[in-house]
Amino acid sequence: MAGDREVPALREARDRVRERIAQAAGRAGRNPDDVTLVAVSKLVPAERLRAAVAAGLTLLGENRVQEAATKHDAVAGARWHLVGPLQSNKARLAVELFEAIESVDSIPLADRLDRLVRELRPASALTVYLQVNVDRDPTKAGFEPEAVEPALTAIEGLPGIRLAGLMTVGRVVPDPEGARPTFRALRELSGALTASHPALGDGLSMGMSDDFEIAVEEGATVVRVGRALFGERPDAAP
Ligand SMILES: *Cc1c(COP(=O)(O)O)cnc(C)c1O
Repeated sequence: MAGDREVPALREARDRVRERIAQAAGRAGRNPDDVTLVAVSKLVPAERLRAAVAAGLTLLGENRVQEAATKHDAVAGARWHLVGPLQSNKARLAVELFEAIESVDSIPLADRLDRLVRELRPASALTVYLQVNVDRDPTKAGFEPEAVEPALTAIEGLPGIRLAGLMTVGRVVPDPEGARPTFRALRELSGALTASHPALGDGLSMGMSDDFEIAVEEGATVVRVGRALFGERPDAAP
């Protein structure tokens, strides 16, 4: 299999990223084992993903349901997270494909996922992160910060949903330090909300290739890393 040639390079890329996570965790007095690496595999073909799984990158993140559907059955041994927007007409397929949806950004979407989980996979709740638009950026998805608590009240009792915490996308800035206030604000929001809503869960999905070390310093439990593992995507990529 041609993809086999890629395994050592991907293993090296994985080790490098894990080492950087460990360094950042060390600076913050954290255990690096408390940081989960999601390898964001959008636009990476299935053959290369089979090599990624062989290299130990078994948790994959996709931002499009349709793309994940084309790759899912061709990549044995992978687990999948959805990290991009979910339209309600793709919710059924998403429940079939993904172990976790990191990008839930409305109460109706959570309700729909809950109904589908109870219909399609009643034995295993779907792991969900609530996406927060910390910076109130009109080009980004997510709950406004003050909308998270009312959403939690509506979502925390849904039996098909296992809340794992909050997710955000940092701002695009020339210096990764510029993303720190966003990550810190997400951690503070999480702390405030879990005090009254422990069902939220204390997970924090934040940090991508350019800023995951800052995110780990600020408490990320999940980092979503694409380019630092797989290289640059073709220009058309979102
Ligand atoms: C593409 C993407 C990532 C990974 O971005 P990189 O810069 O390639 O690390 C992480 N999170 C989301 C939501 C994405 O769409």
